[in-house]
Amino acid sequence: MSVALRPGRRADESPVHLRFSEDDEAFRRELAAWLETELSGPFAHVRGRGGPGDEHAALEERLAWERHLGQSGWSCIAWPAEFGGRGATLTQQVIFYEEYARAGGPGRLGHIGEGLLGPTVIAFGTDAQKRRFLPPIARGEEIWCQGYSEPNAGSDLANVQTRATRDGDDWVIEGQKVWTSWAQWADWCFVLCRTDPEGARHRGLSYLLVPMRQDGIEVRPIVQMTGDSEFSEVFFDGARTAAENVVGEPGDGWKVAMGTLAFERGASTLGQQLLFQYELDQVIAIAKENGAARDPVIRQRLADAWIGLQIQRYHALRVLSNAESPELSREAMITKIYWASWHRDLGKLAMDVLGPESEIADGAPYDLTRLQRLFLFTRADTIYAGSNQIQRNLIAERALGLPREPRPAAGSTR
Ligand SMILES: Cc1cc2nc3c(=O)[nH]c(=O)nc-3n(C[C@H](O)[C@H](O)[C@H](O)COP(=O)(O)OP(=O)(O)OC[C@H]3O[C@@H](n4cnc5c(N)ncnc54)[C@H](O)[C@@H]3O)c2cc1C
Repeated sequence: MSVALRPGRRADESPVHLRFSEDDEAFRRELAAWLETELSGPFAHVRGRGGPGDEHAALEERLAWERHLGQSGWSCIAWPAEFGGRGATLTQQVIFYEEYARAGGPGRLGHIGEGLLGPTVIAFGTDAQKRRFLPPIARGEEIWCQGYSEPNAGSDLANVQTRATRDGDDWVIEGQKVWTSWAQWADWCFVLCRTDPEGARHRGLSYLLVPMRQDGIEVRPIVQMTGDSEFSEVFFDGARTAAENVVGEPGDGWKVAMGTLAFERGASTLGQQLLFQYELDQVIAIAKENGAARDPVIRQRLADAWIGLQIQRYHALRVLSNAESPELSREAMITKIYWASWHRDLGKLAMDVLGPESEIADGAPYDLTRLQRLFLFTRADTIYAGSNQIQRNLIAERALGLPREPRPAAGSTR
C-alpha cells in the first residue's frame, strides 16, 4: 500500500504524518483506552519496565502481561485472524506501536515469536506447523528465542557448525549457540543447524524448531555490562525435536533463515522512535536542569540528536510507503545503521550531560540509573541484527553495486 504524507497532522504529539481513516482512528481510541485501563490498573507495575538494559524487571508479571495481551486480542495483530491475529492494516500496525510506546507498554517478551518466528512459519511452514505453533504465540503462552549465532558464526552466519542428524522420528542436535536473547525464559528456539555434513557454507543447513525445556539443552546466562543477562550460551548435547519440526525442506535452512531476517524491519520502527524521543527528552531536561545545556558543544550535540531523530522519522515514512515490496529496498538498507549509530551516540551524550555523576552507581553494589543502562546497552546496538560494518558491506554491494568483498574459496568450511 502507499502511505500518503499529510503534513502538519497531530504534529504536536505524533511523529507520524500518515493518512488515517475513521476506522483507524476508532482503532486508536479503542487501543489507547484499553492500554490506559490495564497499565494504570492490574498491570501498573510493568508500565515502562523491561526495556533495553532492564530485561530482568518484573519477569513473571511481564509473562502474565503477554498472556493478557494475547487473550485480549492485542498480540500478533498483523497476523491473519485464522492464526490468532487481527489481520491489521499497516496503518493500524503503526498505530499499535505508537500507542504502545506512548502508554509505556513494557518490553515484549513475546517479540521474537510474534515478529520473527511467526511470520517465518506463515511464509514457509506447513499447515500443521501453522496450526501447532502460531496460536500459542498469539495467546502469549509460548516464548521463543533465536538460535543463529555461534562462537565462530556471527557475521559469517554460513559457518554454522551445530549439527542435527535423523534418529528415527527425531532430529538429534549437537553443538553450541551463543548470544541467544531470552534463552533462559524461552519455551522454544528456532535453530539454524547443519543437517548435511557434506554441504559447505550455506548449503546443507536446516531450520529446526526445538523445545527448550529438555535434558539435552543447557542454558548458561551471560552477565552483561548492564548487570542483566539478556542473552545466554546454549549447549545442545543430544537435544531432540520431532522430524516434522523443520521449516522448509531439510537443506533449505539458509533461504528460511534469510526470510526471518527480512521480517526484522517494519512497522515497529515508528514506535521505537517514540521511545528514542522519550530518552532524548529526558537527556535534554537534565541538560537544562544541571547547566550542561550552557556548554556550546553539548548544545550542538543535543541539536544534532534532535535532527537525527527527525531524519529517522521521515526516513521511516518513506520506507513504509514501499512496505509491500518483498525486496529490502535501497532506502530500507540505511535504517539499521542509522538508528543504531544514533542511539549509541545518544547513550554517550547522556553520559556527557550527566558529567561526573554518570560514573557513580545509583546504589550498591551495581544499581544503575536508566541513563547508565541506556549508555551500556546501546553499545550492543551497532552489533546485533547485523553490525555496522556488515550494514556498510550490504549497502556497498546491493545499493551501490560495488564489487563484492572477497569470499572464502569454494569448499572451504570458513
Ligand atoms: C544484545 C545482543 C543480542 C543478540 N541476540 C541474538 C539472538 O537472540 N540470537 C542470535 O542468534 N544472535 C544474537 N546476537 C548475536 C549477533 O547476531 C552477533 O553478535 C552479530 O551477528 C555479530 O557476530 P559476532 O558477535 O560473532 O561478531 P563477528 O562476526 O566476529 O564480528 C566481529 C567484528 O568484525 C566485524 N566484521 C565481521 N565480518 C566482517 C566483514 N565481512 N567485513 C567487515 N567487518 C566485519 C564486525 O562488524 C565486528 O565489528 C546478539 C548480539 C547482541 C549484541
